[in-house]
Amino acid sequence: MGNSKFLEALTGDEYKELSKKLWIIQNHRCFICEEKIDLDVQTTNIDHIHPLVTGGKDEESNFGITHEHCNKSKKDSDLIVARKIAKLEKIIKEAENMKEAPSLKHVLDSNGGAKYNFKYKIEDGKLIYSFDELGDTTIRKSEIFVDELSKEQTAYISIPIEYLFHDDSLNPRGLNSSVNLLIKEFYKSNPQLQIALARINDGKIKLFDGQHKTVAQIMLGVKRIVVRLFINPDIDRLMETNLNAGKKLRQIAFDKSIVRQLHDTLYAERIRRYQMDHSLAEDDYSFSEQQLVEHFKGERGNVKTYIINSQKNVVTHDQGNKLQSYINFEGRGFSLPLSYSTFEKTLLATFINAKTVLNTPINYKVEEGLNPRTLEKEQLIQLCSLIAETFLIGKYDDSIGTNKIENSIATGKGYSIPDEHLIACRFFKEEVMYNWIKYIELLIKN
Ligand SMILES: [Zn+2]
Repeated sequence: MGNSKFLEALTGDEYKELSKKLWIIQNHRCFICEEKIDLDVQTTNIDHIHPLVTGGKDEESNFGITHEHCNKSKKDSDLIVARKIAKLEKIIKEAENMKEAPSLKHVLDSNGGAKYNFKYKIEDGKLIYSFDELGDTTIRKSEIFVDELSKEQTAYISIPIEYLFHDDSLNPRGLNSSVNLLIKEFYKSNPQLQIALARINDGKIKLFDGQHKTVAQIMLGVKRIVVRLFINPDIDRLMETNLNAGKKLRQIAFDKSIVRQLHDTLYAERIRRYQMDHSLAEDDYSFSEQQLVEHFKGERGNVKTYIINSQKNVVTHDQGNKLQSYINFEGRGFSLPLSYSTFEKTLLATFINAKTVLNTPINYKVEEGLNPRTLEKEQLIQLCSLIAETFLIGKYDDSIGTNKIENSIATGKGYSIPDEHLIACRFFKEEVMYNWIKYIELLIKN
């Protein structure tokens, strides 16, 4: 590249020869994206693997060949780091293609992780376990520590990634771009300061906190992750602690829609506790939301909120909701017209009554198809889909997106924007949407 005296001194033919030599060493693949290079039809670059500024040498052994495109768009000047990030981006893209929020789960799946259940017992205050599926016959022991105030029991253990799973009920958040910074940080051999948290659930070790740090380590080739493992924890408490960390303590930037998802889980948890307290079977829903709220006297307000937010969550993420793919959730593209916050303040707030919970049994008239929550959900999903069909599907163009529009109109230059796209963008702005939703409400009432 520009700053290489070695490369500048080469003649055209010598440069070509070096390109070919590196190409053969790299098994005909690009150093960054690891896809095939065709020297006849693709433009390539030779670049320092470790940049000169960080002590890389200007000599043949420190050169790699890349697609020119990959080199120009690389995410780090060190090609090894650039390669790790490119690999992670591929995993993220695959998850998005499957309409899933990319998370530790996908990174584990593509790195040979998340395979085996955890076999353990507790004896004399010690956690006893083995990882024998890996051919490791050692019987391991870790001390169990008891948290004095909460009485939670935890052990610190180093887990092979084959035994590690992502906890998507306690931590439904996806990955964001901070993971790239962590990859760069750990690559410099800076240590991880806060340890990740996991719990044992369904016979598996599930990581619920420290997802980004763990992903960064796995991408750098780490095969064992040190975690603080909660043994049979009080899930409610863990979730609330985790939620409070986000909401009250502002340690984590929780997205609203994520809070709704967590409340969905908390609601399910309350239902189970109610059933257990009344010796009801797990599929017995003969009690009402109102009874549920009464049962948990000390936290009436919370339980009410969980019920309403659970309904909001179900409507938002239902497969049949065609508006869903136009909602901008945390960590997704900014090219979408409707922010989750606007969606909630307008459609959900108008059509899901947040003040009242129902007196009818939760399973009331389910079989006849007349369950009030189900009807509410289905009608709202129908309305969402109708709105998507009217204004967005085939009309909103996400290659144009929303953010450049005001600019190109103001400057009068740029591409000509189709009217339908423009209408879609303007219609889903919060102040505009608030008004036309009021009309729909009127219409429905009449
Ligand atoms: Zn490439």
